[in-house]
Amino acid sequence: MPNPRPNILFIMSDDHASHAMSCYGSRINQTPNVDRIAKGGMRFDNCFCTNSICGPSRATILSGTYNHVNGVTTLTSPMDNRQTTFPKLLQGEGYQTAVIGKWHLGHGGMHDPTGFDYWTVLPGQGLYHNPIFYDMGHETTVEGYVTDIITDRCMEWLDNRDPNKPFCLLCHHKAPHRPWEPDEKHADLYEDIDIPEPPTMWDDYSNRASAAREAKMRIDRDFRPQDLKQPVPEGLSPEQDKRWKYQRYIKDYLRCVASVDDNVGRLLDYLDEKGLAEDTIVIYTSDQGFFLGDHGWYDKRFMYEESLRMPFIIRYPREIEAGTVCSDMMLNVDFAPTFLDYAGIEAPREFQGCSFRPLLTGDFPEGWQTTMYYRYWMHLAHHNVYAHYGVRTLQHKLIYYYADGLGQPGAVDDPRPPEWELFDLEQDPHEMKNVYDDPAYADVVKGLKAELHRLQKEVGDESHPSELPIRD
Ligand code: CA
Repeated sequence: MPNPRPNILFIMSDDHASHAMSCYGSRINQTPNVDRIAKGGMRFDNCFCTNSICGPSRATILSGTYNHVNGVTTLTSPMDNRQTTFPKLLQGEGYQTAVIGKWHLGHGGMHDPTGFDYWTVLPGQGLYHNPIFYDMGHETTVEGYVTDIITDRCMEWLDNRDPNKPFCLLCHHKAPHRPWEPDEKHADLYEDIDIPEPPTMWDDYSNRASAAREAKMRIDRDFRPQDLKQPVPEGLSPEQDKRWKYQRYIKDYLRCVASVDDNVGRLLDYLDEKGLAEDTIVIYTSDQGFFLGDHGWYDKRFMYEESLRMPFIIRYPREIEAGTVCSDMMLNVDFAPTFLDYAGIEAPREFQGCSFRPLLTGDFPEGWQTTMYYRYWMHLAHHNVYAHYGVRTLQHKLIYYYADGLGQPGAVDDPRPPEWELFDLEQDPHEMKNVYDDPAYADVVKGLKAELHRLQKEVGDESHPSELPIRD
């Protein structure tokens, strides 16, 4: 008898970098419950987002398309819910579907969630304490801490579902997004210890394009009072001041993560208690990575490793061997076709990703991607990060800061001189030295530019006009 169609429990947090998960070898915290998924399934070490920012990554996950196709290029371009998404297709084939928690793809009319039997989502970024939810469009305030409430609501929905039909539940946490407000239970966690600093915390942005120097996400300079929540002690040297701010920031971030981890454990326990663990694909991921003091920063947006990489762990005892690791390249645009594959639904032609189901059984399909295309559109907005696109291979990364708003919603139309960066990830895993102008890499540059343009053509995107004179 064939396996039943699996349930899908997709748990996604917001801004949780893989280097703050112990199953990824975190130096700074433990995540025992998230680790249960990795121990029981597979960990992906090279899962990347195609645009490292909340709404755009979410739109890509749902629609299986890049942002220039789904229209969610920035935080101020809401999703048109008339598009085809994987939950819609699952719902159409008899799955019970729900999204609970963060949405961040707009509200009202054609921006509300569609394809879900039930949805209850936070407006915008949502609140940590006593959050407002839109329950199928009706506003309600719920007392308590947002990570606990989202989990409670997931379990309530699971309790009330039809057990004779498969389900797909999207549990989307707000945490650990800024402003990093912990719950009471974890408020004193790490109080008496110092969290280790990342090796690149004292980066001075030399040997890089000016984009890194111009970004406004520095832990020593750019926090708001509501981020730090306490006045900075007087009389500190600049070095002490930066160290104090790092500790203040990272401890609150990790406290929010600890609550997410507890609540992942609650959902895993629920599956065990109800006898659902065997038949349920469980995923834990985050919409992108995050700088945890790396390069002296918080936030994301850059194509640099810490923000490009998504944690992705997946458990499905019927098909995935426990405790396995995959270092093949996989992208957020590949999630939707994979879920459809498991449900026995053919992905529509407009989906741009590919099912990575073969990777989950240890296969490497011929022609599987070894390069990826990235594009950040929201020029200068919020953290003064220049718009850029680039290509990453298994060894190199080429970035072009075209540094132009191009009239995108929320982007600033104030162009800057374009610049290139090349990193040799084997020689320089922390991306501290741009070797674009090094003659030794001239052939690498040429090859990567060709690959960049090939990928742009493949996904239907276009190079910035400033690049055209030097194109082959
Ligand atoms: Ca995010």
